[in-house]
Amino acid sequence: MTDTLVFYSGPDPFEPWRDALAPHLGSDVRIEKADAVSDPETVRFALVWMPPEGFFARFPNLQLVINLGAGVDRLVARNDLPDVPITRLSDPEMGRMMAGYVLFSVLRHARDIPHFEAAQARREWAYKHPRAASEITVAILGLGELGALAATEIARQGFDTHGWATRPKDLPGITVHCGDNALDDVLAQADIVVCMLPLTPDTCKRLDENCFSMMKPGAAFVNVSRGEVVDQDALVNALRDGRLSGATLDVFETEPLAPDHPLWSLPGVLITPHLASVALPNSAAPQIAANIRAVRTGRALANEVSRLRGY
Ligand code: NDP
Repeated sequence: MTDTLVFYSGPDPFEPWRDALAPHLGSDVRIEKADAVSDPETVRFALVWMPPEGFFARFPNLQLVINLGAGVDRLVARNDLPDVPITRLSDPEMGRMMAGYVLFSVLRHARDIPHFEAAQARREWAYKHPRAASEITVAILGLGELGALAATEIARQGFDTHGWATRPKDLPGITVHCGDNALDDVLAQADIVVCMLPLTPDTCKRLDENCFSMMKPGAAFVNVSRGEVVDQDALVNALRDGRLSGATLDVFETEPLAPDHPLWSLPGVLITPHLASVALPNSAAPQIAANIRAVRTGRALANEVSRLRGY
């Protein structure tokens, strides 16, 4: 029997995903674009990024939803999700891309690059003595698939690296703190705070006015997770007051960030348009195919999302 994998994504083109998946799936799984499905009854698998409202109702025999990305907040928050397992991508290339972006952001602040960019704009030779990595404390909030890899990369560079998660974990070179009560201490000791938390009901606007006031004066802030994890107005205030020396921001409450938003022109702020890491067809295809085979043969899934936790 031929089953169908339906594909939907606004930003990702269909053809590279079809071509990457086909050799791994074999001839008994057809791969079709959502607007060209030949027989909706045969659709058992959905590979999707933010499909439109009502999308899943077209496919009554779905057995697996695969989120085409690492962050599942948009998917698990829907009220039209079928009662089938959800998996997400956990792809080594995606992890490396994210770790690279986080390393770049941390080095940007650790090496005072915003200071030199501002000085260059004034044609000013503004020497600022570099600090050793070991004298700089970096806190990574969220130590999941991507967060743990980024924290490991930061620790490898010699930074005093701390991490925050809900559950304890053993990550060489990283001091791990757990639970709500630990957050203030983590923030208070960090020179650079990197947000890598998933967006869930517990983390929505978790980084608020109080959190920014707990940070060291002159600390820098990096957000690569979701804009809604941060109270963006509180962040703007902390940057305007000079409590934060700068920020590197890849994600925002509303994307695209409005052209008149104050974040664009605050000193020390670098804005990138949500691209710290993206899903790559060739490196993600084997794990997607493995999960499809697992469903077909009744074996356990990898990278399954907990609807209860929301990540
Ligand atoms: P995971 O889901 O693997 O891990 C989440 C981590 O956050 C875990 O360590 C978890 O703790 C911790 N956490 C969750 N809730 C809380 C809480 N309430 N308090 C403290 N810690 C908490 O996520 P990833 O590392 O794979 O990815 C992180 C996020 O990055 C994604 O959710 C997504 O939003 C974002 N992302 C952004 C991209 C971009 O281009 N900007 C690209 C890809 C992802 P525990 O380990 O104890 O469960």
